[in-house]
Amino acid sequence: MEIIDTHTHLYLPELASDLDGVLHRARKAGVHRCITLGIDVATSHRAVALAEQYDMIYAAVGIHPSESARATAADIEAIRELANHPRVVAIGEIGMDFYWQDVPPEPQYRIFEAMLNIAREADLPVVIHSRSAVREIEWFVQELGITHLKGQMHCFEAEELDARFFLELGMHISIAGNVTYKGFKYLPTVRAIPLDRLLLETDSPYLTPLPKRGQHNEPANIVYVAEKLASIKNISLDTLITHTTKNARELFGV
Ligand SMILES: [Zn+2]
Repeated sequence: MEIIDTHTHLYLPELASDLDGVLHRARKAGVHRCITLGIDVATSHRAVALAEQYDMIYAAVGIHPSESARATAADIEAIRELANHPRVVAIGEIGMDFYWQDVPPEPQYRIFEAMLNIAREADLPVVIHSRSAVREIEWFVQELGITHLKGQMHCFEAEELDARFFLELGMHISIAGNVTYKGFKYLPTVRAIPLDRLLLETDSPYLTPLPKRGQHNEPANIVYVAEKLASIKNISLDTLITHTTKNARELFGV
């Protein structure tokens, strides 16, 4: 069983302080690849440094919407440079976030557009964060005239028709440990994602699945997410893992 955790932040202190232990437990749980994503220039550099150091880690670089108001033109150029690094497999995480309402829309639009351009120039997939912003992203993508986009809607929490919008665009979709929580409302969305577009992720150290909720999340816990998704989709765990691993390999080239 070979699992790919497509979304982690392994450079954060919760995980970096015991990274060898984290990776050892991941391998024991069947996770043999982790993609780790920057949220600004500094963390994108850290993601790349980890990917240089560990065979099982790959990097994504980008500026997260929450960091967009602080981001300068030089930061955009720094991400453009990093995108050419051989261990960088995606531009992320990028997107929009209107949950916290602490960053106004304009800088989010500016940075998201710049990151989409870098991904297109570098021919890399994108990893999109869409917290309380799914409809805005749909509108924005249409405004930009984008009719095809390869990448991942990460930690997707939206209606089935929103999933269909992104599937038609060509995107893959993943749902994190929140799928194991009692209040999770998007079962029809999970059922609507075809097996050839589904990815597995933990978003470590965030969104720890049941029964580990309350601790820092780590890639080894991906098994709980996979089990829950398999049960919702009424398929075996093996089938779910076979497909999601194949999808991640093909999308990110890992
Ligand atoms: Zn993330």
